[in-house]
Amino acid sequence: EIRVEGLYKSFGANEVLRGIDLEIGRGEVVCVIGPSGSGKSTLLRCVNLLEEPDRGRVLVGGTELTDPDVDIDAARRRIGMVFQQFNLFPHLTVTANLTLPQRRVLGRSRAEAARVAAENLARVGLAEKADAYPAALSGGQQQRVAIARALAMGPEVMLFDEPTSALDPELVGDVLAVMRMLARDGMTMIVVTHEMSFAREVADRVVFMDGGVVVEDGAPADVIGAPRHARTRDFLSRLL
Ligand code: ATP
Ligand code: MG
Repeated sequence: EIRVEGLYKSFGANEVLRGIDLEIGRGEVVCVIGPSGSGKSTLLRCVNLLEEPDRGRVLVGGTELTDPDVDIDAARRRIGMVFQQFNLFPHLTVTANLTLPQRRVLGRSRAEAARVAAENLARVGLAEKADAYPAALSGGQQQRVAIARALAMGPEVMLFDEPTSALDPELVGDVLAVMRMLARDGMTMIVVTHEMSFAREVADRVVFMDGGVVVEDGAPADVIGAPRHARTRDFLSRLL
């Protein structure tokens, strides 16, 4: 479903991605781990072309997003992204946060957008918060709204960049539960996370990045449980 081939990205003299190859099948969940500055966010941002790669290809569902002739906006619509910061519109209700992008970007009618919003709020367990404003929600609830907003656009794949890092510890579980449900429902997902128990239980594969390259890529039991590389072992030992 997602293919990354020979991806390079520099910011000035800072070579952040130095040849990333990654293949993620339909319905697969891949967790990306690695130290701060290793290029995890840059990788996700290159996958949905928030950043333009210097070199290499990104393909989603057979469409090459890095092809200069591709309609970038149409391509991006196939990819949902959830950030550490939820970025909800504070002046809009939860429902309006979900309907606005559907209407603006997809041109859905008010009624259709509202129907899809309600369906996805129910999916993340927040049907009763439809008319609330973001400020009245906990961080975990706001993040679940952000996930519902991304889902309402009907993406083929979902990218998560440390979706629970900004949350109080007691709110992390509800967000991870929603992500587990998505995984179970067959969503193709790349999840940058420090939640090793989530990676162990939910990921089909774990990718360890360091210095802009993939150091290790394999089953969670191998990469987390029995890492082959010293750099992976070193990183994991510092997490625990
Ligand atoms: P963290 O775990 O802290 O989120 P990360 O693995 O996500 O780290 P990136 O955010 O991808 O790392 O950053 C990798 C490097 O790229 C860092 O040195 C960062 O300063 C640099 N970088 C990222 N985005 C930009 C940008 N827009 N302009 C300049 N430098 C950038
Ligand atoms: Mg990051």
